[in-house]
Amino acid sequence: MGLIVQKFGGSSVADAQRVMNVAQRVLDTYKQGNSVVVVVSAQGDTTDDLIEKAKEINPKASKREMDMLLSTGEQISISLLAMAIQKLGGNAVSLTGWQAGMHTDSNYGTSRIHKIMSERLKKELDAGNIVIVAGFQGINKYDDITTLGRGGSDTSAVAIAAALGADLCEIYTDVDGVYTADPRIVKGAKKLDDISYDEMLELASLGANVLHNRSVEMAKKYNVKLVVRSSLNHNEGTIVKEVNKVEKMLVRGVARDNDVARIALVNIVDEPGVAFRIFSLLAKKGINVDIILQSIGREGKKDISFTVNESNLDAAVDLLNEHKETIGFEEIKTTSEVSKVSIVGAGMVNNPGVAASMFEALYDANINIHMIATSEIKVSVLINEKNAEKAVNAIHDKFHFA
Ligand code: ADP
Ligand code: ASP
Ligand code: MG
Repeated sequence: MGLIVQKFGGSSVADAQRVMNVAQRVLDTYKQGNSVVVVVSAQGDTTDDLIEKAKEINPKASKREMDMLLSTGEQISISLLAMAIQKLGGNAVSLTGWQAGMHTDSNYGTSRIHKIMSERLKKELDAGNIVIVAGFQGINKYDDITTLGRGGSDTSAVAIAAALGADLCEIYTDVDGVYTADPRIVKGAKKLDDISYDEMLELASLGANVLHNRSVEMAKKYNVKLVVRSSLNHNEGTIVKEVNKVEKMLVRGVARDNDVARIALVNIVDEPGVAFRIFSLLAKKGINVDIILQSIGREGKKDISFTVNESNLDAAVDLLNEHKETIGFEEIKTTSEVSKVSIVGAGMVNNPGVAASMFEALYDANINIHMIATSEIKVSVLINEKNAEKAVNAIHDKFHFA
């Protein structure tokens, strides 16, 4: 008995039958004597459909209006789920982000939660209600609706769990837990019983969208007990937690990210300050740069290439072209036909052979590597997008994950 936060993703509430299934599950948890807060996402493909609707009208719609539109998806889900619970005889109340006190910064489309005013949540729980909160949304200092970025409902759930000091935060989705690779791409992917916050954070940041990366960041910061499991069965899920040293695996999982584009600046003058000029310019505009590669200088010239999110490609290119003279490059080359494939594992830090094994797997599969980046717990490679699934499978096979 305690306070439990349960989050249900879009596929878990995709149609009336699934909504009733979730309602029953939530009610069962409540009847076991727990206080329950439920966070839900928009049904099925609703968010994608809303984005399409906006594009038909204005492909360059302002971010504020996009947030106003996208937040409606979750509002449908919360009311339907409350109705479903009421139909089963339970007491439920639905709350939008602002009603639940979810205060965010003002970055429309990628807002961060900075505080939760939890009075209303507590009041409803004290009244014996199952409280259903719209995920993915909040309110900023202008009283405008904001959204947290795609997949952000996970973060709403963890933030509420942290604010209320919940005993457990369960993320219900359409797979049984966190796997060694996306089970939709790799047939032999294995479910993990547990994974450390750090490894999960890397996997999520590198493209394993089973959890929103900020939700993991927040769970680690506030020590929220997090479980990922399926809403369609009662199998035990994956526990995300602090894992001590002995349990550290060499390689925990393989992730793929297709939302990557590469920019190459060709024939830049080879002098001090060039990298500073390029990357401070991009940073000022809030464009995040990931892998960076610089060639050796030749005849006073060099090349610098780097990756950005695909959605930032056009803005980055426009910006660089505007400053072509001051940066001093001759040509700019871009491609979005690339993917980043990564391995993650807290145990790889002292094992130089791990990266070599990954490269061998790619070599055996005849896949060319464009860029490489490493850190203590990950190795990432940039490859052609068309090879990404083959690469994930080849690398996964190499490490067995026995
Ligand atoms: P939800 O709508 O419940 O939030 P998501 O689609 O956001 O669900 O996340 C679940 C999906 O994440 C799975 O269907 C799976 O294809 C994908 N996924 C990617 N990497 C992994 C992984 N390592 N383990 C489990 N699922 C993964
Ligand atoms: N509905 C939002 C999305 O599709 C948020 C979420 O599902 O977590 O990104
Ligand atoms: Mg999700």
